[in-house]
Amino acid sequence: MDDCIFCKIVRGEIPSFKVYEDDKVFAFADINPILEGHTLIIPKAHAENLWDISDDDLTAIHRASKKIAGGIREVLDPAGIACLQLNGRAVNQVVMHYHFHLIPRKADDPELTMTAWELVPGDMEQIKAVSEKIAAAI
Ligand code: AMP
Ligand code: ZN
Repeated sequence: MDDCIFCKIVRGEIPSFKVYEDDKVFAFADINPILEGHTLIIPKAHAENLWDISDDDLTAIHRASKKIAGGIREVLDPAGIACLQLNGRAVNQVVMHYHFHLIPRKADDPELTMTAWELVPGDMEQIKAVSEKIAAAI
């Protein structure tokens, strides 16, 4: 995609802090890090989101995430790493080229709000009905 910022990063037309590359994926530092070591993994082939990305590229992203998480653990020794991936403007996807966030958190770092929600039991009938519909649609 000509005017996609992440395609431009893959093509080297705009700079990035590359941490990993293979034939299918490219990984680089997020320039607005939520916490130190925040890394993005993207497919080299443009795909907007989870519905668009090919199974092969999705596999490659997840295999790369394991390698990169290993590197992050070696360098930063975080207490945990959050993996986050947003699909659609309604959930605040800002760059419309699939990207998988790796966000390491040290024990004394601020809480990641996306990983710290309150557990409130749902309506079991509704949960059952919606899961049955989703299962039937797969
Ligand atoms: P989101 O679409 O909300 O999942 O997040 C997009 C992410 O891309 C944000 O965390 C941005 O900081 C990051 N980002 C945007 N432009 C660049 C860039 N040129 N280099 C590195 N990270 C970027
Ligand atoms: Zn793109």
